Amino acid sequence: MGEFEKSIFNILVVDDDENVLQLVKIILADRKYNLVTAHDGQEALDKLGNFRPDIIICDILMPNLDGYQFRDAIRDRDEYYLTSFIFMSAKTTTEDRVRGIEHGVDAYITKPFDVVEFRAIVNSMIKKRLQLERLVNHDALTHVYNKRKIIGELDRELQRVKRYGNPLSILIIDIDHFKQVNDTHGHPEGDTVLATIAETALNSLRAIDMIGRIGGEEFLLILPETDLNGALIYADRLRMMIAALVIGANDIKVTISGGIATAPVHAVDREPLIRKADEALYEAKRAGRDRIVNAR
Ligand code: GH3
Ligand code: MG
Ligand code: MG
Repeated sequence: MGEFEKSIFNILVVDDDENVLQLVKIILADRKYNLVTAHDGQEALDKLGNFRPDIIICDILMPNLDGYQFRDAIRDRDEYYLTSFIFMSAKTTTEDRVRGIEHGVDAYITKPFDVVEFRAIVNSMIKKRLQLERLVNHDALTHVYNKRKIIGELDRELQRVKRYGNPLSILIIDIDHFKQVNDTHGHPEGDTVLATIAETALNSLRAIDMIGRIGGEEFLLILPETDLNGALIYADRLRMMIAALVIGANDIKVTISGGIATAPVHAVDREPLIRKADEALYEAKRAGRDRIVNAR
């Protein structure tokens, strides 16, 4: 169903004082936190090579690369735009705090720590992070992934296909004669139809499958570890489930058409794979709609 809720949070803790690192480990000793530590900004930068933190908790005064410099080094990097950055420091004058704000930090923890406050700040950063992630990755109307997110996930999955050779299928579905639904029942009812179909598809997926909205009434489904035959069986079941729905106050009934393409047999790169699924979808439309067609 895609990850609506993360359950493990990666936290990078940076401080040149080993005692502080140990103390933070104790304060944040919880299965939901995965802690990695570094002793200065440079070591922190190095650790970022194979660690993707959700939250960075960072001292200010450190040798080599201090907290401000480390902050500046990652501030404008896209991959950290959702990462919360917290300063922890004994430097607590107004001037210090203003400087932190100017460096775009999200929160400030003062040393010595108040354990309750420390945990409260980390918890609130996690809540904010989850909200941001939902906003950035999900479509507001249907709550499934948006186009940018689902395309990014497809690229990632196709990397795995290239490395390990396991099959992966994609399914593009498009609502049949949806313009008529809007024309007959109005745009708000059309929206209800869209949301219901997205929810139905989402609920029909296995945990590793993903769905995103890639156009007005078009959705892309990623079915990892699924060959063409498996994808056809799934897609036809979904098609029948949707055909059986009676939606909204006006008892609207709709059908979908779908196109399937499978990696690596049809293509292993994203663009040709999507093109093949699109062509199959077009064929399903031409052949009379309410059907699933696979690429050849
Ligand atoms: P076909 O069976 O060939 O797919 O016909 P269609 O009418 O579904 O296809 P077409 O692409 O001509 O029309 C898509 C319609 O989807 C037109 C547009 O108004 C509607 N649409 C796109 N986004 C939204 C949306 O967010 N909400 C609503 N209610 N309608 C939308
Ligand atoms: Mg349509
Ligand atoms: Mg369309």
